[in-house]
Amino acid sequence: MDCVFCKIIAGEIPSKKLYEDDMVYAFYDIEPAAPVHFLVVPKEHVLESCAQVQEEHAALIGHIFHVIAQLARQLDLAGGYRVVTNCGADAGQTVQHLHFHVLGGGPLGAMA
Ligand code: 5GP
Ligand code: ZN
Repeated sequence: MDCVFCKIIAGEIPSKKLYEDDMVYAFYDIEPAAPVHFLVVPKEHVLESCAQVQEEHAALIGHIFHVIAQLARQLDLAGGYRVVTNCGADAGQTVQHLHFHVLGGGPLGAMA
């Protein structure tokens, strides 16, 4: 599949990995929009965006948020952080593989 995140997960494109388990992969964004900016993605390309989330994905989405909370603690984002998922063209989604941005490491600007 021609998906940049699938290639990163498969190790075909190098990434700065933060965490990996059987369900998710977390890595630093190549174009950071904050002092700390990483992405958490499901390993399987089952969802293009949060628009496709169904009840059956509850465990996966819950797990992603648990991983985010653990990584935020590990990276000492005690001052706070923002979790963003862009969904579709108007949100500026560029990679059609569900992913959650985590931004922190200093005061963040106001949201759009
Ligand atoms: P979106 O705009 O779809 O929500 O976010 C996609 C994100 O993936 C962007 O922030 C972009 O910088 C990041 N990204 C795109 N290609 C790569 C890559 O090859 N490596 C890494 N680490 N991040 C990437
Ligand atoms: Zn993918």
